[in-house]
Amino acid sequence: MQSRVAIEKQFRLTRIGLFVVWAILSAIIVAWSVSSAKERALSDVMQKAGETLSVQTEILSGVLDKYRLLPPLLARQSSIRALFVRDVEGNAQSIDARRVAEVTSSMSAAMDVAFFFPDGEMLANARGSVAERSEGLPQLIEAAMQGRLGRAALSNDRGERTYAFSSGVRREGKFTGVVIVYVDFYRVEAAWALSARRIFVTDKSGTVFLANDPDWRLKSLSDLRQTGGVDRYLIDGRFEDRLDLVRRLPLLEWDLHVLADPAPVAAARLSAATIATLISLLAGMIALVVLRRNEGLTIKARTDRAIALRLERVVRDRTRALSITNQTLSKEVQVRREAEERLRKTQDELVQTAKLAALGQMSTALSHEYNQPLAAIRSYADNALRFLDRGALSEVSGNLSRINGLVERMAELSRTLLSFSRKPGASIGPVPLGTIIDEALLLARPRARAAGIADIHVGAGVSGVHVLGGRIRLGQVFVNLVNNAIDALSGRADARVEIDARREGDRVLVTVIDNGPGIEPERLHKVFEPFFTTKGVGEGIGIGLSIVDNIIRDFGGTITVSNRPEGGACFTIDLQAADGPDEMPEGKLLPTSASAAV
Ligand code: ADP
Repeated sequence: MQSRVAIEKQFRLTRIGLFVVWAILSAIIVAWSVSSAKERALSDVMQKAGETLSVQTEILSGVLDKYRLLPPLLARQSSIRALFVRDVEGNAQSIDARRVAEVTSSMSAAMDVAFFFPDGEMLANARGSVAERSEGLPQLIEAAMQGRLGRAALSNDRGERTYAFSSGVRREGKFTGVVIVYVDFYRVEAAWALSARRIFVTDKSGTVFLANDPDWRLKSLSDLRQTGGVDRYLIDGRFEDRLDLVRRLPLLEWDLHVLADPAPVAAARLSAATIATLISLLAGMIALVVLRRNEGLTIKARTDRAIALRLERVVRDRTRALSITNQTLSKEVQVRREAEERLRKTQDELVQTAKLAALGQMSTALSHEYNQPLAAIRSYADNALRFLDRGALSEVSGNLSRINGLVERMAELSRTLLSFSRKPGASIGPVPLGTIIDEALLLARPRARAAGIADIHVGAGVSGVHVLGGRIRLGQVFVNLVNNAIDALSGRADARVEIDARREGDRVLVTVIDNGPGIEPERLHKVFEPFFTTKGVGEGIGIGLSIVDNIIRDFGGTITVSNRPEGGACFTIDLQAADGPDEMPEGKLLPTSASAAV
């Protein structure tokens, strides 16, 4: 998978490439937009200026055409021809001629109308302003004398300008005079003045003859114009860029100019450049945003994938670790099971050992227990033989029944010992508390008696009470507790052991108390620990109470110990009361007695 740095580098390169492409495209688009906008604006400006030029050319041509025809027409008029006659004194009819000139001038709206003799003497004119000037006059007269239409542009010091057309007046085949009509350009210039554009006419010498700007009139164009890349013209006191559209008036050899303002072209170029630049920038920004977004998405996808992979790896590792742990745990469970099994066996063996130890302790006392009836049986048997010899059969029968009683007692003791030494079963059920205590005391009594303990008292509370437990194991509990009491009481004259029980709800509390020295308070919590003993070597190994505690726990009960205020120890066993039938788990029921005396 591509790393984040590689992705960023790739996108950086793409960005640079895109920027270069964008810059080139933008430059092309801007240049193209500017140029096409310029062309459009220029053609627009030129078209409008061209229209103005065409219109003004037509107007000017129309005006000139109108006045061009006037002199030949006037020259043919007989009334005008008649004017060019001198009387005998050589005087001309100047008054009549003047009147005709005035009428013609005002009717044709010409600037002036003048009549000249061929020698250049003026017969008359209507206004007398321009016609009085001599420049151009010879040329006008000469053309007229040659039968042509004379023409000349004229101006005076007052800035008046006109164009004169001349035509010769013929009388009887001879030229007798010349009619000159002066064109008035006032209306033309007045019409031009309405236009925002500069409109002017230059003659072939380059002098501005007509113009809608009065300041330009009769000035040389070279003074009004600075030539360069774009021609600049003097507009309102300063030079400005203008486009010059020129149309030649071939008849007059004049050039009609219309100046167009190129500002719209510059504005169009500027706005085209601005719009194209903005569009390019926008496109560039959109491309950049799209690229950034793509980069972000690619990096995110890569990060997500990396996280997913890491997660997968972690899950895989955890699963592997878990399965290893599982295997280890299974092995540990197996080992623990085996250890528990071993422990259980060891515990069973320990119980057995403890019982054997108890039996060992009791054997001395038991041998005395057996020797006593054996001696009595022997003596009863000897006496029975003697009674038989004497024929006293009733005494023989009495002795034999006593022997029978003694043998029965010995057999009962033997049976209890056997059942006690058997391995206990694991089943639990309702057992008779009184019977079990009697059996235990049957085993313990000989030791008690040997220790000089006269009385083991069993309270009335135990009779008829059933508890949940195992017969042999519960019997072993009482044997252990009574044996411990015997050990503690050894050598005391007032030694006393008491066993009693009371019912509390569905529980039965059995107490085993003695009036011995009790247990030191700091050792109270230790007596149930395995191998805790205060007895000397060969007297105890410290597992009796530990076994008792385990047995009671197996029955779902508890055992506690305390010191009695009046002295001595008190063991309290808390067992579940049982009301069911007596199933006698773990062995055979022995004959019971509610209380027993040693
Ligand atoms: P052992 O009898 O072999 O010492 P036990 O587990 O039966 O082992 O008893 C542990 C200890 O508890 C005894 O050594 C003794 O100090 C103390 N003990 C048990 N019962 C009594 C009792 N009735 N009075 C005083 N001390 C007792």
